[in-house]
Amino acid sequence: MPDDQTLRFATQAIHAGAAPDPATGARVQPIYFTNGFVFDSTEQAADIFAMRRTGFSYSRGSNPTVAALERRIAALEGAKAAVAVASGQSAVMLVLMTLMRSGESYVASPRLFGGSLGLMRRLDGRYDLQPQFAKGLAPEDFEAAITPRTRAIVCESIVNPCATVMDIEGIAAVARRHGLPLVIDNTLASPALIRPIEHGADIVVHSTSKFLGGSGQTIGGIICDAGRFDWNRPDRYNLINEPWPDYEGLVVRERFPDMPFAVACRLFGLRDLGPGLSPMNAFLTLTGIETLPLRMERHCANARAVAAYLKDHPKVDWVSYPGLPGQPGEALVKRYVPQGPGSIFTFALKGGEPAAIKFIMGLDLISHLVNIGEIKSLAIHPASTTHRQLRPEERAAACVGPETVRLSIGLESVEDLIADIEQALAKLD
Ligand SMILES: *Cc1c(COP(=O)(O)O)cnc(C)c1O
Repeated sequence: MPDDQTLRFATQAIHAGAAPDPATGARVQPIYFTNGFVFDSTEQAADIFAMRRTGFSYSRGSNPTVAALERRIAALEGAKAAVAVASGQSAVMLVLMTLMRSGESYVASPRLFGGSLGLMRRLDGRYDLQPQFAKGLAPEDFEAAITPRTRAIVCESIVNPCATVMDIEGIAAVARRHGLPLVIDNTLASPALIRPIEHGADIVVHSTSKFLGGSGQTIGGIICDAGRFDWNRPDRYNLINEPWPDYEGLVVRERFPDMPFAVACRLFGLRDLGPGLSPMNAFLTLTGIETLPLRMERHCANARAVAAYLKDHPKVDWVSYPGLPGQPGEALVKRYVPQGPGSIFTFALKGGEPAAIKFIMGLDLISHLVNIGEIKSLAIHPASTTHRQLRPEERAAACVGPETVRLSIGLESVEDLIADIEQALAKLD
């Protein structure tokens, strides 16, 4: 097999990280449903436990099916290594908890997925990991929020729910100037649309529950380590720089210089905290990824057509989809996502919140549910659901008002989607 990193994207999506099974010749990645793996000797067992050699021991920390998914997504993102976890939410949590200890801070985009904002508030209140929200979305706004206690910068590549495309290179330049790792949540783009590491990101996270899995069947998350950030700062990143007494003084940065952040996430995040991904979910996600490049093309084309239809409709007040000509953020779309800014976006009706609710209830084909990025088209009212737990000012910063409707456009024939939207709009006064 050629080296995964030299293959082109669509080939990687099908082949990277998984070869025919050496034991049986099975062409599809087998699902290894086993908690434990038999050791050859007590020495081997001790070596694996001490991290002196790699190998499978217990599926909470690593499993062959999950490892195939990790290798595939690492190849797609151009990362050195990846760690799969139980959900996108645990991916974001483990990144923050691995990077920082109590009393340290990170600069975060004010415009983030509601679940991430809620998590950040809780980690602040209970564990004193302090988010410093930028005042705006420009690189200067991120820079202005940095203090001596800042340990990372966190943002999304394309923002859930309003499809804003972030200036990743501008923010990466700020991060580099201040010696901080840049963490990008790439869920809404998927590596088919944006590979943040190519634009300067150091850590990439995903909810694989969305485009990567693609069919809305399984919850999962992943953390990718670009492997090039210089962690060598004695006063910070202690899981990477300081000896682990319970691993005979292991210093992660010295033993694993190519992928120290991924190793720290696995040791602390999976061995200690424990939110591992099931091999079954890894298998389903791998299967989904095989068609990712094709699906993303159609997701983008359908979303553009639906957004254009809505923009011209007399009952529609505004559409937030920067993939349309003349929309704010058009330049960033051209620069980072020429294929289009994904298929999740928001819009509002002139009739405000009552019309938004009536519209969602009037849809037949498009499902009223809270996932995104799956092959079926979906609609939700974020202010009363996904963004409900936020304070009004946080909701406003995240671009969610009472009048906002979020759509996730799927792969159906676009004429049927527009017909469904048309009949739901016709029911409004
Ligand atoms: C859905 C989502 C998450 C959380 O992922 P889960 O798999 O639902 O836990 C995190 N970030 C973004 C941008 C998301 O859309």
